[in-house]
Amino acid sequence: MSGRDNARLVYSTGGGEACQVCGWPKSNCQCSKKSAPQDAVPNRPVAKLRVEKAGRGGKTVTVVYDLPRNDLFVKELCLDLKKSCGTGGAVKDGTIELQGDHRERLRECLTKKFFLVKG
Ligand SMILES: [Zn+2]
Repeated sequence: MSGRDNARLVYSTGGGEACQVCGWPKSNCQCSKKSAPQDAVPNRPVAKLRVEKAGRGGKTVTVVYDLPRNDLFVKELCLDLKKSCGTGGAVKDGTIELQGDHRERLRECLTKKFFLVKG
């Protein structure tokens, strides 16, 4: 059951005052829990790179981490990096995982975007 379904259930069954925004009782308001705080993106964000073997098959992935905590920013960056590396990838817990070892390409690409690249 998703959080939203939960909220609706609590809202419709009533009992106690519900938050207008999330529908949960005010004593258990979920608004602040819904989205993690989003940091402003600095002019020179930091990006660290590491290569990992992922999963049982031991596929190599390049992980871009220590990024600003900003979901939209990370999502867009992930799309950009996938395009410039011509590979697949995904956002996982605020880090970006790209299939294959693309450290050199990523370093170049991120530096052009004014990142401070480490690792
Ligand atoms: Zn609320």
